[in-house]
Amino acid sequence: SEYFAGTPTGALDLPGFTHIYSGKVRDLYAPVDDAGEPRTDQVLLVASDRISAYDHVLSTPIPDKGTVLTQLSLWWFEQLASLVPNQIVSTQVPDAVAGRAVLVERLDMVPVECVARAYLTGGGLSEYEASGAVSGLELPSGLVDASRLEPPVFTASTKAPAGEHDQPMPYADVVAEVGADRAAELRDLTVRILQRGNEIAAPRGILIADTKVEFGMRPDGTVVLADEVLTPDSSRFWPADDWEPGRRQASYDKQFVRDWLTSPASGWDRNSGDEPPALPDDVVERTRAKYVEAYETLTGRTFG
Ligand code: ATP
Ligand code: MG
Repeated sequence: SEYFAGTPTGALDLPGFTHIYSGKVRDLYAPVDDAGEPRTDQVLLVASDRISAYDHVLSTPIPDKGTVLTQLSLWWFEQLASLVPNQIVSTQVPDAVAGRAVLVERLDMVPVECVARAYLTGGGLSEYEASGAVSGLELPSGLVDASRLEPPVFTASTKAPAGEHDQPMPYADVVAEVGADRAAELRDLTVRILQRGNEIAAPRGILIADTKVEFGMRPDGTVVLADEVLTPDSSRFWPADDWEPGRRQASYDKQFVRDWLTSPASGWDRNSGDEPPALPDDVVERTRAKYVEAYETLTGRTFG
């Protein structure tokens, strides 16, 4: 199928659906009812091949990425079904987006990026080094890059507008946003999802260092797992046999892209405000292979 993945504005003409929103990676469509009106209770969630890095959507798509993310999320939703209800309504979708789309419940999204960390790294590590805390949560002293956090910690962030960086969100701010009971529910669910994820991933040789999940609410107030879950876009996957605290870990995620963009070869200055350049073919191919490898290693299935 010809799926236009170049920019977030690449909405498709899908019979029976109307485009309502595009994020960095996903395009959302509402099913149109018999009277020609967009339904408000369901949404078609289409994962494009767009990849973002350093808060930019790159001009070069990664072939099959949208399908990998969609199929991996579907697999995880099933693994996690006893833990948390999920958004999935149906995998019957228009041919033009087959494999990369799901029909989901349209939820009232909780305006919090729910992050859990089982290992300290990335932005969390930087915060810790500067303040001894992550999202306002004080951590023991002496932790280093890739130190294990047991049990995992909940470190929320705000949902930043397009092009801006998510900001750390202290737990008290989550309480102020959704109330004490709901905040505790979101925190416990997020931590359990990461713990269950690691129980399943460990025998397959993968550590899930951290993850970001999004929840939404049904009209009756039930908290439901939405968006994507435990994918290479939302999580850091590390090869377990390579884990060694005190240094940066090799990763399944977008590391090839990030490394190339920040290398002299790209000619791009992260702080210039310029759009990043197109990716070279070998970076595209290696990144695609990593996404497929993550899917195959976790699910035990062959991709495609
Ligand atoms: P943003 O939307 O802030 O640009 P993003 O770039 O990560 O974030 P995408 O993943 O590209 O967004 O798009 C998915 C969008 O759909 C997100 O805004 C997400 O909150 C929203 N979403 C995910 N699942 C649902 C759902 N079940 N009901 C309603 N909205 C949803
Ligand atoms: Mg997203």
